[in-house]
Amino acid sequence: MVEFVFPPLERASVAVAGTEARFPVRRIFCVGRNYEAHAREMGNDAREAPFFFCKPADALVESGAFVAYPVATRNLHYEGELVVAIGKGGSGISQNKALGHVWGYGAGIDLTRRDLQSAAKEAGKPWDMAKGFDNSAPCGALHPVSDVGHISDGPIRLQVNGEICQAADLADMIWSVPEIIEHLSALVALVAGDLIYTGTPAGVGSVVAGDVITVEIQRLSDLTIALS
Ligand code: MN
Repeated sequence: MVEFVFPPLERASVAVAGTEARFPVRRIFCVGRNYEAHAREMGNDAREAPFFFCKPADALVESGAFVAYPVATRNLHYEGELVVAIGKGGSGISQNKALGHVWGYGAGIDLTRRDLQSAAKEAGKPWDMAKGFDNSAPCGALHPVSDVGHISDGPIRLQVNGEICQAADLADMIWSVPEIIEHLSALVALVAGDLIYTGTPAGVGSVVAGDVITVEIQRLSDLTIALS
C-alpha cells in the first residue's frame, strides 16, 4: 500500500442522473470556438482546426451550487456547453469508432475570466488563468448513453435570471463529437473519466454576483448555479 506524506484529495466526480453512483473525473478538456456565430462574435475565422485547453478536475461545480464571484476578474463570462463524458480510453480514435468511447452527456458552463483571456490573447500568452480557475467548470448530472442515446442535435439554451442569452442547436457545432474525439485523441490518450466541454454558441456575456445561470439541453438535466 502506498504511503502518502499527507492524505491525498478525494477524486473529483460528478453526479449521475437517477442514481447515487458518481462519475469519477480524471481531466477536463475544452474545445475553443466550435460554433461559427460565436467564433465570429469573438473576431475569429470559423474554419480553423479545433483546438483544446484544459481545466483542473477540481474546478468542477455541481448543479445547485452557489459559486463565489471569482477573484482577479471584472468580466466573468458564461459559456453554455454540451459536456461529453468519456467511458473508454484510447488514442488515435477514428471518427467512426469515437461514439463507442462515450459514456454519457451533461450540460456544462465554461466560466471564463474574459478580461484575462483578452489580455492573454493580445500578449500571446497561455489561457490557463482565464479558463482554469477555481470553480470554473460547473457540470450538471451526467446521463448515460444507455438512457439517452447519443446527442448530436437539439436545442441548447442558457438563461441568466430567466432571460435567454444563448439559444442554438447542437447540430451547429463546427466539429461534431466524433470529430472532436478523433482530433483530441490524436493529441493525448483519452482515459475513462475524462470530460470534454464541446464549445459554446453565440451570445456569451458577463454575469455578476447575484445572477442565476441555467443551461438546458434536450434530454439532459438542467444545470443551475448561482453567483454569490
Ligand atoms: Mn468554451
